[in-house]
Amino acid sequence: MSIQLMGIAINSVVKSLSSPKLFLENFQNYKEVMEIDNQKYYPLSLYLDLVTFIEKKTNSNSSVMLKLGRAVGKSIIETAFPSNISSVKEAVEQIQKAHELFCKPVTGKFFVIEEKKGFIRIKYTAPYNCILQEGLLLEIVTKYGGKLPKISHSECMLDGKNACVFEIKWFVI
Ligand SMILES: [Zn+2]
Repeated sequence: MSIQLMGIAINSVVKSLSSPKLFLENFQNYKEVMEIDNQKYYPLSLYLDLVTFIEKKTNSNSSVMLKLGRAVGKSIIETAFPSNISSVKEAVEQIQKAHELFCKPVTGKFFVIEEKKGFIRIKYTAPYNCILQEGLLLEIVTKYGGKLPKISHSECMLDGKNACVFEIKWFVI
C-alpha cells in the first residue's frame, strides 16, 4: 500500500502560503489541494508534489522554505499540541505523536538522540521535506526553548544518508 497522509498535514502547508490560490494556480493538482479535508487521508505523493512545486516556484530559496516551515510548525503547535509541553524534547516527542497520526502506515520518525541545556540533536527519517522540517524545528525551539536558535543539518537523506541529523543551539532565557 502506498503511504497516506492526513489532510491536516497538507493543509498546514497550503494555509501557510500568504495567498494560496494565487501561488498554487498552476499546480497540477490545484483543485484537489484547494479542497483538502483535514480528517481525510491522501497519497503522500500529493504532499511531496505540492512542496516540490513550491520549492521550484521560489527557486529553492531556502529562506522562503524556512519561513514556510515555521508557519507549518506554528499551525501544528496550535492544532496538535497539548498545552502542558515544557521542553524542546517534549515538543519533538509531540511532533512524533502527530507524525504517527498523520502518516499511514507510519514511516520513519523524529527521534531525540542528544539533549543538553540549549542544545538538541535530532535524528529524522520521516518522509516530509527536510528543509521545511528545519523551519518547523526552529519554531518549536523559539516557543519551548529560547532565543536565537541556530540549526545545522549535518547529515541529510538527500545526500544518501540513512537519516537527516539536525542540531539546534539556542540561548536559554
Ligand atoms: Zn535532510
